[in-house]
Amino acid sequence: MKFHIFTFGCQMNVCDSDWIERALIARGWESASESGAQIFLINTCSVRDKPEQKVYSLLGRLRNYCRNRPETWVGVGGCVAQQIGRDFWRRFPEVRLIFGPDGVASVPDSLERLQAQPDLRISLLDFEDSYLERDAVPRAGGAAPQAFVNIMQGCDNFCTYCIVPYTRGRQKSRPSVRIIQECRDLIDSGVQEITLLGQNVNSYGLDAGGDGTGFAELLEQVCTLPGLKRVRFTTSHPKDIAPDVIEAFSRFPALCPGLHLPFQSGSNRILKRMNRKYTRESYLEIIQGLRRVRPDIALSTDIIVGFPGEFDADFRQTLEVMQEVGFDNSFSFKYSDRPGVRAASFQDKIPEADKSLRLSLLQKEQDRLTQKSLQGLVGRRLEVLVEGPSPKTPPDRGTSWKGREPGGRIVNFSDSGQDLTGELIPVKIVDAKKHSVFGEVDNT
Ligand code: SF4
Repeated sequence: MKFHIFTFGCQMNVCDSDWIERALIARGWESASESGAQIFLINTCSVRDKPEQKVYSLLGRLRNYCRNRPETWVGVGGCVAQQIGRDFWRRFPEVRLIFGPDGVASVPDSLERLQAQPDLRISLLDFEDSYLERDAVPRAGGAAPQAFVNIMQGCDNFCTYCIVPYTRGRQKSRPSVRIIQECRDLIDSGVQEITLLGQNVNSYGLDAGGDGTGFAELLEQVCTLPGLKRVRFTTSHPKDIAPDVIEAFSRFPALCPGLHLPFQSGSNRILKRMNRKYTRESYLEIIQGLRRVRPDIALSTDIIVGFPGEFDADFRQTLEVMQEVGFDNSFSFKYSDRPGVRAASFQDKIPEADKSLRLSLLQKEQDRLTQKSLQGLVGRRLEVLVEGPSPKTPPDRGTSWKGREPGGRIVNFSDSGQDLTGELIPVKIVDAKKHSVFGEVDNT
């Protein structure tokens, strides 16, 4: 069968789609382009209204394919599938499979049943009590030198703006032996860099599924695996990041000096309304601790503007925290109501125009900080893990390669030699661009 997967949203969705693709190929199915596919899978995101609307417009587009070719149909997965559920069948008859994040492991079997029984429709929307392990499926030859490893599913934090606990369920930690085994298999298959993945990795093991291994201990086990060059983890939560996790940045050479630590707002009043369970002061203390143990650490974050009740003064405090920390990068969004979350019932919503103005001011400030961060790399010699050829090839410089330095920032460099994908290359940074830097191989 020929299939095509559309993926929206976070790295966990990308991971889920990647596993489904590899599992189907291992069963003899063929990954095809949109125009050549018979089965379409849409892995959806519901974190804001915009990505949810994208799903409906895509389904509208796929309806034409299905109308002209009856053997063609659609499966919808991810957070919008969990949120809307079987109502998809009423609204989109071409949808025959609906699966939530806990249903991913059962997708390949379900697709084969649906192929064998044309009148069948399947929904996989139940939440599991524990982390549902998936079949280990081979990685394609020549696969990327970096990989993501799920360590947990779901979240127990219930930030008042967030739909994730309702669509990905309660937190379920994956047994550490399974995580370590997957990491070993990846290293054996040539992976150089592993990113541990979860909604809130710092609370790993603190749920019924925990096997007594905490996140700091898991991090030590992974960082000391023979043959592994680089380790990263995401996403962290300021309320749970423990001192021994901060210390890990100076203890383990494999742990990369880059951390994504969402702070969302610089106002304690808004942080309380968001149910984030930390203050601007405690957040800044963590940053000081990180910089004490690893002065060259690169920091990124998430920020929401226009949360209900956010006054200009609150927004100014958000800008102040950005300037005080000097983030290397940030992902910023306008608040939008999500169905069923507490903040949706808050009265004092911010007009759209004010939200847009705050977002543009904030992103302009971030552009300035990012430029400063990238300029700070010029003249430095950094080790780059090459991800592949770079689209950014200056015409007079032969082949150009793209990769990331230990802090996670993108480096493009030119070299006329053989394929460098997966290599760790010493590069002298010579120029800073808007979102990346450019360098030259430096074997001195
Ligand atoms: S920590 Fe908060 S924002 Fe993050 S996934 Fe959990 S509920 Fe959502």
